[in-house]
Amino acid sequence: MVEVNKSDGQPEAGMALIIPNSNGNKKDEVSLPDLSRRMQEFATARNWDQFHSPRNLLLALVGEVGELSEIFQWRGEVPKGLPGWSAGDKEHLGEELSDVLLYLVRLSDICGIDLGQAALRKIRKNGIKYPVEKCKVSSNKYTAYQ
Ligand SMILES: [Mg+2]
Repeated sequence: MVEVNKSDGQPEAGMALIIPNSNGNKKDEVSLPDLSRRMQEFATARNWDQFHSPRNLLLALVGEVGELSEIFQWRGEVPKGLPGWSAGDKEHLGEELSDVLLYLVRLSDICGIDLGQAALRKIRKNGIKYPVEKCKVSSNKYTAYQ
């Protein structure tokens, strides 16, 4: 679980994520800068900054995407909400999703990219590429609407 450490109680800049806290009832918010800081502290404490090059982090990220893919491999189409999956399966899924997120956050940080702001810009750009009035209920690529 991720602890939230905010002196003013306000979310920091970037995208806020909701995760279960240790008591399993309430949920704490955590921002991408929170995760970035925690990853930096984790690496510094282990003297791992020397290994966290962009290339190494990208390859680690791809490896984690592979581990995430393995969970869905051979299951066929899976309904939303994952009905019938065991608690253990869902916990494993959450761990692999977290591995992907944490490497993505770390890679962005090492490359000097503000991931939250970049993601917000990308959502705005996608809104322009995929105008609601032209692409509602259509899965065509944006080039079909130009
Ligand atoms: Mg993993």
